[in-house]
Amino acid sequence: MAERKPIESWLTDMDGVLIHEGVPIPGADAFIKKLRDSGKPFLVLTNNSIYTARDLQARLNRMGLDVPVDNIWTSALATAKFLDDQRPGGTAYVIGEAGLTTALHDIGYVLTDHAPDYVVLGETRTYSFEAMTKAVRLINGGARFICTNPDETGPSTEGPLPATGAVAALITKATGKQPYFAGKPNPLMMRTGLNAIGAHSETSAMIGDRMDTDVLAGLEAGMETFLVLTGLTTRADIDRHPFRPSNVVNSIADLVDRV
Ligand SMILES: [Mg+2]
Repeated sequence: MAERKPIESWLTDMDGVLIHEGVPIPGADAFIKKLRDSGKPFLVLTNNSIYTARDLQARLNRMGLDVPVDNIWTSALATAKFLDDQRPGGTAYVIGEAGLTTALHDIGYVLTDHAPDYVVLGETRTYSFEAMTKAVRLINGGARFICTNPDETGPSTEGPLPATGAVAALITKATGKQPYFAGKPNPLMMRTGLNAIGAHSETSAMIGDRMDTDVLAGLEAGMETFLVLTGLTTRADIDRHPFRPSNVVNSIADLVDRV
């Protein structure tokens, strides 16, 4: 295999890499500080579409992680970028929170339940049967089905919660239509993120705690990949996949000196 070029820019997943259940992972603050001091382009990524980048900046800041708002990239922002490229100035019926509705307003989309171009499904805290029924009827009427991310469950202190991918499956069952997922593992989320910071895949690295999303998406986008073991994946899990990360490290603390 050809030698990779030196890493000029970094993309990192958030949950399981920088934070875990509302607590920063040791080394995360030093890693972010090193990145900021280096002046290298970087992005913190999350498939969670609930929050705006500004909300996430404030949440990270409370945990002692100082990440500028322009260095945060969510599946909601990736979805909005995708729709802006595909159909500028379009219309959408949205099931989601401020993270998604703000992203769509910012690209000039009109949110409507009257014959929209798209039904866009994101994460919410309260999935309403009425909203799901409306989504099913609009898709049957011709609206294209877009979903921010395919995650079937999300974390909570009381245990897993059904998430966007599970609700998408319900709508698929009722309509016979599969959604287009903009978030990880779609490499589109990496490519749009790299474009947003003016970075190139061959000189960029992706850090994540999941093989099936972070490592896969980084690999397919042509980036060097780093798997950390502070999240969902153990060393024993790695060999069960038909692909491997470029590097495996114990935690983000091991990457501070790589920046
Ligand atoms: Mg993660």
